[in-house]
Amino acid sequence: MLARRTSSFGSSGTAAARAAARQAAHSRQEVIDLTAGEIWSELAPTIREGAINAINNGVNRYTDTLGMMELREALARKVSFDTGQTWKADEIAATTGAKQALFNATMVLLNPGDEVIIPSPYWTTFSAQVVIAGGKPVFVDTRSNAYVPRIQDIAAALTEKTRAIVVNTPANPSGAVYDFDTLTAIAQLAINRDLWVIFDECYANFVYGHHAHHPIVSVVPEVRSRTIIVNGFSKSLALTGWRIGYLAAPKEVVDAVRALQSHTTSNPNVIAQHAVLAHLERADVRHESKLALQLASSRQIGLSILSSLRRIPAPRAQGGIYFYLDLSNLRPAFKNGAATADDVVTSLLADAGVAAVSGTAFGDPLGLRLSYGIPPEELETGLTRLVDVLNGWK
Ligand code: PLP
Repeated sequence: MLARRTSSFGSSGTAAARAAARQAAHSRQEVIDLTAGEIWSELAPTIREGAINAINNGVNRYTDTLGMMELREALARKVSFDTGQTWKADEIAATTGAKQALFNATMVLLNPGDEVIIPSPYWTTFSAQVVIAGGKPVFVDTRSNAYVPRIQDIAAALTEKTRAIVVNTPANPSGAVYDFDTLTAIAQLAINRDLWVIFDECYANFVYGHHAHHPIVSVVPEVRSRTIIVNGFSKSLALTGWRIGYLAAPKEVVDAVRALQSHTTSNPNVIAQHAVLAHLERADVRHESKLALQLASSRQIGLSILSSLRRIPAPRAQGGIYFYLDLSNLRPAFKNGAATADDVVTSLLADAGVAAVSGTAFGDPLGLRLSYGIPPEELETGLTRLVDVLNGWK
């Protein structure tokens, strides 16, 4: 018998969609995989060099639990640059991906039964981690407001048990970028109601058009003492497999994270630490810029194809790496009495050879997430097939 805890969460819905796409690719000749939360790219030269140098220097030992001091100092300089404030190394923890930073955050903040506000649709791991930490996710629906939470809806969801609000901008899966006023209002609410803000800015490098990414601590500096900033290099440097991220937070949080991390993973992979340190020390952002341009171009290609969709509004895709479709108006045309986006995903895989992630993974049964982090030719083929199939439904 396993612990009861194991029944309170399933494995990540996005990972499951990915596995289904791979499985289908085995049995049919070609599947265009739009499920991945990662960016197709070669390795950044600075990262390659940093890692190879570390290996050639025989690096093989544990580092400090929270990462090498030089790396934490370099990360503090990055956060200082990003926020326009002064951050010190003792306010930084290097982690095994942003996912571990988020996990640390929930584990050090939540007591059993504490509630965490999560704007919905939400990245599936936010709610799972709250549950694992013994807390209760409380979802605030954002669909009627272009996927940005209304402050009155957040306020209405607060109880005396509310402990934290998750703010993920640019947002996965919706692609919404929170505007200055929304961030101001959330920060003020957090201050007035004594709440923590878990601020996930993993997609900060990918914002389009007139949209801008605002770190919440820059918008309202007084919220900094109750904010945990979470970021990493999986998206900004296309380094998903290297598992390197960080959090920036008040020192008391970082101290608690040190204790927790010392009993879980210890330090993040040392070669990845050296690689990121080398990258940050070079202060060479050409690779980041290249990826941001690549994504902006793929987004443009995708938006123009998706504009031919009948009955499905064009996604806004203000930031991030995903198109998020609202299938509500298409529902009457779902095949064979299908009810949710799960069935749409199954049909798309069978009829178009296109793999997508159903919104059910994000608490939205009528949403569909399509990643545009794949090579542009594949994206074009995949989206064209998807549009043909969905437009063909009567
Ligand atoms: N936060 C968000 C919003 C994400 O979408 C992801 C990955 O998809 C992560 C965090 C985790 O990233 P990492 O690979 O750094 O653990």
